[in-house]
Amino acid sequence: MKALKERIMRDGKCFEGGILKVDSFINHQMDPILMKSMAVEFVRRFASTKIDKVMTIEASGIAPAIMVGYLLELPVVFAKKKKPSTMENMLATTVYSFTKGRTYDVCVSRDYLCPGDRVLFIDDFLANGNAAKGVIDLVHKAGAELVGMGFLIEKAFQHGGDCLREQGVHVESLAIIESLDNCQIKIKE
Ligand code: 5GP
Repeated sequence: MKALKERIMRDGKCFEGGILKVDSFINHQMDPILMKSMAVEFVRRFASTKIDKVMTIEASGIAPAIMVGYLLELPVVFAKKKKPSTMENMLATTVYSFTKGRTYDVCVSRDYLCPGDRVLFIDDFLANGNAAKGVIDLVHKAGAELVGMGFLIEKAFQHGGDCLREQGVHVESLAIIESLDNCQIKIKE
């Protein structure tokens, strides 16, 4: 998606270890106009998919997910990173975080991820695909069905996308980063 690619080239910042910071428009300060355009693009790309529910993981996936849910007029559920003491009837899985270098538990209530739900997952980044794998596990545990995964930014050099596509998942990424070597951002045309 042209507008996102241009914004990444203009305002994205590279860090050691293959990290791309987009704090000025996605991960800290947010640009709602761009966020809306990205959601419109997801709606276009998943137009032929029947969806019941949009799902994401807190916190950075919530903004794009709610925009998509708003446009599709569908509920949005986010997996929580800490089990709330009041939450019963829940499904949990463990995810390894590449940016934090540790594992964490994510959970979602069976009340909001239900058998038969056709789920579209939306997140900010796809890197190694660990968060995505965790979500697939939660969706399976719920007896729901994953119908697609949309990411604002995919880092192709970490191969999470290859793995998901090999499993037959419909993956859509709005900007694909080919390399961040030598702190230079290379985006797929
Ligand atoms: P994965 O589980 O696919 O390895 O990583 C995806 C998650 O890690 C995303 O939800 C995102 O929060 C975080 N992440 C991975 N790579 C980056 C990055 O380069 N920049 C930022 N800001 N977050 C990242």
